[in-house]
Amino acid sequence: MAGTAVEKKILKNFINGKWIEANSSRYEEVMNPATGEVIAKVPLSNREDLDQAVDAAQQAFCTWKKTPVPRRARILFRYQQLLVDHWEELARLVTIENGKSYEEAYGEVQRGIECVEFAAGAPTLMMGQQLPDIATGIESGMYRYPLGVVGGITPFNFPMMVPCWMFPLAIACGNTFILKPSERTPILANRLAELITEAGLPDGVLNIVHGAHDVVNGLLEHEGVKAISFVGSQPVAEYVYKTAASNGKRVQALSGAKNHTIVMPDADLDSAVANIISAAFGSAGERCMACSVVVAVGDIADELVERLVKAADDIKIGNGLDEGVFLGPVIRESNKERTLKYIEIGENEGALLLRDGRKDAATSAEGYFVGPTIFDQVKPGMKIWADEIFAPVLSIVRAKDLEEAIEIANRSEFANGACLFTNSAKAIRQFREEIDAGMLGINLGVPAPMAFFPFSGYKKSFYGDLHANGRDGVEFYTRKKMVTARY
Ligand code: NAD
Repeated sequence: MAGTAVEKKILKNFINGKWIEANSSRYEEVMNPATGEVIAKVPLSNREDLDQAVDAAQQAFCTWKKTPVPRRARILFRYQQLLVDHWEELARLVTIENGKSYEEAYGEVQRGIECVEFAAGAPTLMMGQQLPDIATGIESGMYRYPLGVVGGITPFNFPMMVPCWMFPLAIACGNTFILKPSERTPILANRLAELITEAGLPDGVLNIVHGAHDVVNGLLEHEGVKAISFVGSQPVAEYVYKTAASNGKRVQALSGAKNHTIVMPDADLDSAVANIISAAFGSAGERCMACSVVVAVGDIADELVERLVKAADDIKIGNGLDEGVFLGPVIRESNKERTLKYIEIGENEGALLLRDGRKDAATSAEGYFVGPTIFDQVKPGMKIWADEIFAPVLSIVRAKDLEEAIEIANRSEFANGACLFTNSAKAIRQFREEIDAGMLGINLGVPAPMAFFPFSGYKKSFYGDLHANGRDGVEFYTRKKMVTARY
């Protein structure tokens, strides 16, 4: 593979434009989840490592904030081209460290590139507002400025896209950035740093400190860090939000999900089945926008269930780099064990196990595979309905009408996405008005917004006020000065 990120094996931190060995002597193994093979070792950096990065980022901020916005944007244009040039290499890297299929990884790289494209619009995005006459002879204007050093903490499931939700826009707005990638998928982050350096980013503007809790806590507590962008599981998101806020930081914490897909009796079943299979089992169900619950309405249920099981039987399981593979492994052995436990829990709760992924040959092979699993007759309140399993396990709940289906979905403590399959405009309107979720899909499976719109989950799926991406992202990474003037 071109580049150095994988060959390095023992990963280094990226501080002030240099690859630096961590002060900490603690390392964690990074595995290819499809094979269990150790592909790298990631340092579990300590506070000393973080302090070095904060110092570098604070120094770099002094000049970066004054670098003309179009000049900052030009670096992002070059970065965008480099990412396009290295698209296949980046996608392979995502598959190797995360396990998702190459096709999914290729799509993820596209999503990351789109964030850079959005951020390259910084000159327009950073504009303020003026009113020439708020009173006789007096004018007023709003000017937008960066915050300072921003910390980003990211999950394992989108090693390319989620960091790209954060640092390109943050630095385009004039901030400097410290990224703490997931210790389970840390390799791609280093490649992102190498490429942005090649694009001409000055030293210290983007820094990477690898590690786990210690680095996260350091970022949350450090006085020199002004804002935190977090994406990860619900308990950690809540902890990050509360701790960062109590330390006076601006914070956005995107969290877990349990997304419901409602299928109406008039739905196009071919499309519904194909989309649900892709949304439930794509990326091994390890997506915050995965479809984890289907609510089958009325008399469509039996046929829908039968067709979902049949389609799941046809899924090719294996190493995501192999041709035609759709379902890769979950990220670690412990995630596999947890998933198998949830299958047992579902059985014990009385749900009907229609397709048992434990019986797929891949589940007993090397790597952390679990075959597609489908439960029917799931009831709201069961653990398999309520908890984010984050694995290829789909629950089917039955409802008599749309009203009941929406009521079931709204009982979830999460509110990231929800989808509806129907041909009825009236049903679509009712769904849009009454469903309690932030990202809605009509006749599609994964309604993830593009980079110029906010990623707008709520309830326990999001902690904070301003979401990632779009205008919200610009607001989050900037503060305003109001100038009122008489001449
Ligand atoms: P995770 O919470 O385990 O880890 C996320 C980050 O937090 C990692 O960098 C990790 O090192 C750090 N971390 C973990 N435990 C910590 C602790 N106790 N104290 C301090 N830091 C800690 O999440 P994950 O398993 O890597 O990612 C999957 C989760 O992310 C799922 O819940 C998924 O829904 C969520 N997610 C949400 C979105 C969204 O947009 N809402 C997007 C992607 C992923």
